[in-house]
Amino acid sequence: MSAPLYSRRNLHFMLYEVFDVLSLTKHSYFAAHDSESFNMVLDTAEGIAAKAMRPYLKECDLHPPQLEDGNVKVHPAVHGYYRLFSESGLLAAGFDEQYGGQQIPKTIYAATDFIIGNAHNGFEMFTSLSIGVARLLISFASPQLVNEYVPKILSGAFTGTMCLTETQAGSSLSDIATTAYRQQEGNYKIKGQKIFISAGDHNITKNIIHLVLARIEGAVKGVKGISLFVVPKKRIVGSDLVTNDVHSIGIYHKMGQRSTPAMHLEFGANNDCIGHLVGEEGKGLAYMFQMMNAARLGVGLGGTFIASAAYYASLQYARERPQGRRPDGKTMNEPPVTIIHHPDVRRMLLLQKTFVEGSLSFLLQCFKYVDLEKISDDDEKQRYTDLLELLTPVAKTYGSEMGLVAVNNGLQVLGGYGYTEDFMLEQLARDVRIMSLYEGTTGIQSLALLGRQVIGNNGTTLEYWKDEVMKDIEAAQGYSNIQCYADWLLNEVEEFSKITHNVLAAATKSKKEIVLSDANLYMEMFALINIAWQWVKQGVVAQLKLNEFNDNPDETKFYKSKLHSMKFFFHYELIKTKALSARLRDHEVLTVIQDEDLIM
Ligand SMILES: Cc1cc2nc3c(=O)[nH]c(=O)nc-3n(C[C@H](O)[C@H](O)[C@H](O)COP(=O)(O)OP(=O)(O)OC[C@H]3O[C@@H](n4cnc5c(N)ncnc54)[C@H](O)[C@@H]3O)c2cc1C
Repeated sequence: MSAPLYSRRNLHFMLYEVFDVLSLTKHSYFAAHDSESFNMVLDTAEGIAAKAMRPYLKECDLHPPQLEDGNVKVHPAVHGYYRLFSESGLLAAGFDEQYGGQQIPKTIYAATDFIIGNAHNGFEMFTSLSIGVARLLISFASPQLVNEYVPKILSGAFTGTMCLTETQAGSSLSDIATTAYRQQEGNYKIKGQKIFISAGDHNITKNIIHLVLARIEGAVKGVKGISLFVVPKKRIVGSDLVTNDVHSIGIYHKMGQRSTPAMHLEFGANNDCIGHLVGEEGKGLAYMFQMMNAARLGVGLGGTFIASAAYYASLQYARERPQGRRPDGKTMNEPPVTIIHHPDVRRMLLLQKTFVEGSLSFLLQCFKYVDLEKISDDDEKQRYTDLLELLTPVAKTYGSEMGLVAVNNGLQVLGGYGYTEDFMLEQLARDVRIMSLYEGTTGIQSLALLGRQVIGNNGTTLEYWKDEVMKDIEAAQGYSNIQCYADWLLNEVEEFSKITHNVLAAATKSKKEIVLSDANLYMEMFALINIAWQWVKQGVVAQLKLNEFNDNPDETKFYKSKLHSMKFFFHYELIKTKALSARLRDHEVLTVIQDEDLIM
């Protein structure tokens, strides 16, 4: 059986040493847990990954789902995975006990998800969507809808989807046209089409619960006219499931993640599709944001767990592949070295490693905020909510954009073999490509960061963020070995504050489009600083451990490798902020459309 393509040692370092996840168990909500129960959850995930996921990665890529006579068949291995995952209790693990859950922290669930997705990223989609749907229903739907659907979803009997996108409404969801017609019984008839719906149809479960954004007939234009509906594929009538006029009219042939079907669905072709309103009318998009924000952290994690697989696969290859000799003392009498000896290969490996471990750290930072938000009250709770709103688009974007770069570097390590189907790198390169597109493209996330989270609240949340970063900078300044990196990070934070100050000043002059035109670069700079923060945080722990007595050479090497990686990140990646800040200070406007369009 193939070995896992992630480091469990690193996961434990993050969970227990950097983020002290056990501290959460002091709160009554998580009090039933300890390291034993957390490790058991991680072991369960690893067992499923090894048995039901890793062996099918390539197989499912070669045999994608088929749409025949209106029905979708997925690879049989998906059935096995879904059954094992739900029977193991992992599907419900993060939910309250009243829903059959174990109340495990999100930080631990994210680590579980990392293990699962690392083994087979396409399978992970099915379960994460169902979890998102159940969570949204619990938060916003009536007790009747919750009772009807949540137990079925969390037991694995039904799956869930999110149906937002339409042909004319992708990034701009305010243009949604699917319509809900009020019925006398209080229900709605739904009419419209949705495209690209992941896990939108399959034969794993007897029913699929769609969360559909639609406009109630006569509703105002724009976001305020959008409501959210639960639309089952099959209606529950007594003990029977009967058709609800939801049809698969197309299946997309995708570049990657080919085990998950992406469907073109039609609702109400025969005027007989019943939907149930979730919460209040006109609040659909706001409700959906809960699922989308969770999914965005999941997508950042997706870029990261795929990149982890690419890193460990390319690391193994680099250790085994002999090619060429080192420039110093080069002689043909010497046998070739393995390619891990070449600095450029080492650079590509370190780029991948620092991405995987930096991005994972940043994501776990966000997931810990989710846990702290759950158990805090009042102002403290609001502070975590605000931090999450600020950082979620960044974690999504960095994980997906740099995930792509990291996987490409992994492929490059394999040379020509990387481009062939003999190794998994070409598949991972295709699988990871989607991450910067769905749940809001990078362009849209960048506008959300700069427009909504920074300009929208006049930079207030950035001050909370700075307080968080300063705690780790101050801790690092206590260690002579890493103090210069803490000072370097502090300089970057100050430069970023000045740039933000300029943006806020310019934003008041009603030049909105110009101010937002380089949102993507602002995002890139902020992301690099956030990952540098995470490396300093890890560096502090590693230095602390190295200062303690330790007679285990593997452990010493692990911590030294952390410090080496931190340095690499600063010298090879963080340095890129220099170019970004120069551009963000530059007043030449070259991308905003003028009277005469010069892109030709
Ligand atoms: C495999 C796959 C699975 C998916 N799964 C789901 C799903 O389960 N449920 C669901 O509802 N949807 C799903 N989607 C849809 C996905 O969320 C959208 O494709 C995505 O939001 C982008 O929308 P679009 O494709 O219409 O691109 P467009 O919105 O047309 O964007 C095209 C380009 O223009 C840019 N752009 C658009 N508007 C602006 C703007 N205002 N400012 C700056 N740049 C802009 C974008 O960044 C992008 O680069 C999936 C898509 C794919 C490919």
